[in-house]
Amino acid sequence: MLAFQEYKKTPERHMQDEIELPDSYVLLNCRLIDGISDESRDKMWISVAEGKISRIGSMDALGSESSGRRIDVEGRTVMPGLIDCHVHLVYGGFRNMEDAIRCPVETAVINASLHAWIMLQAGYTAVREVGCIGNTSVAVRDAIRQGKIQGPRVVASGRPIGTTGGPADILPPHWESTGGRLVVDGVEGFRKAIRRQIKEGVDNIKILASGVEVNPTCWTWMTTISQEELSAAVEEAHRWGKTVAIHAQSYDSVKFALRAGADTIEHGTRLDDESIAMLKASPSILVPTLCTLYSVLELGATLNLGQKQREEMATNESLWVESIRSAHRAGVSIAAGGDIGNRYKHGTNARELELLTKIGMTPMEAIHAATSTAARVLRMADQIGSLDEGRFADLLVVDGDPTEDLAILQDKTKLKLVIKEGQVVAGTASPHRGGGGWLTKKA
Ligand SMILES: [Zn+2]
Repeated sequence: MLAFQEYKKTPERHMQDEIELPDSYVLLNCRLIDGISDESRDKMWISVAEGKISRIGSMDALGSESSGRRIDVEGRTVMPGLIDCHVHLVYGGFRNMEDAIRCPVETAVINASLHAWIMLQAGYTAVREVGCIGNTSVAVRDAIRQGKIQGPRVVASGRPIGTTGGPADILPPHWESTGGRLVVDGVEGFRKAIRRQIKEGVDNIKILASGVEVNPTCWTWMTTISQEELSAAVEEAHRWGKTVAIHAQSYDSVKFALRAGADTIEHGTRLDDESIAMLKASPSILVPTLCTLYSVLELGATLNLGQKQREEMATNESLWVESIRSAHRAGVSIAAGGDIGNRYKHGTNARELELLTKIGMTPMEAIHAATSTAARVLRMADQIGSLDEGRFADLLVVDGDPTEDLAILQDKTKLKLVIKEGQVVAGTASPHRGGGGWLTKKA
């Protein structure tokens, strides 16, 4: 409901009508954060042609680089569009899982479309969706691709797959568990569920390998799948060319997932030396979702969340923080994912970057976690997540320096332009709102 009111009163939704950029243009005087380098670079220019970055250079060597309009961004930061590796498009405004799974698919589609639009306004030009109701995320992904609605690029997982009694199995025993999630058992059960998801058009498979705090009977320290099931599931998904994200909050579930060859470990609440060494030695990427933890700790009372959920997160806090801190210290690849849609609202995804600095990341490392490393998770590192020639021009023009103050990325008034594939899709630099003098000035 809140989100809808926000939608009605937010004028940026017409931004695409207000600011139209030509097919080719050059942004001048940029402070460039390229998504890969450790330092930002001042006094740079970046040229865009037909939706892609065509060239990047220093202002000293601008020369005749003017194939198109010149726009002086006056020293503002230009950086890759942000990427969230762990979002739920359909959730939002639900107090618990019971409420969420009662949501009809029709409502879920509307929620997902709205949330996709809100995240784009917040500077997120790509997301990996890791669990929805019905086949919503595939439909929303395709509608965005076709230009029917506005939103980030979506890598879709569809329904999460888990075992009987596991986190996916949330309905009371006397109800038949269908619809929202796929509850299966045994090697053949997992193979069939994965093939079914592939038939529905997903890009990634989400498997639940441990308990979750929102399930009333299944705790995060429990491992809810066998090694045999998980290895077969990952093998099946990989054979079809799909990546696999594994919800793993128990010690064993992380090891099972890594032995199976998982592409990403979601949450990683309980890591020991052995699993950190395994992570370090594997190509798997850790997606810690610290927002999952802090959203319960912060909003537990306000939202009147369940007692089990709150107690469990209170127990998990020190384990979770220490696990991720140790993994970072050991040099494990970490990507940002906010688990947004559970308790924190869509559009607050950049909160995760701030939380990553609490476990020891520098602001620049946190930015990399939400740009180039996140693009690796989406298997799109050659297309997005860094500023380089030939990449899509998914860019943010930001007031201030996020490496000095990461909170800037959560302040929509500082997001002057959100550019997706070369075109302005959001931002507050509208000339109609008295903010875009620099945008219309002849450079
Ligand atoms: Zn999640």
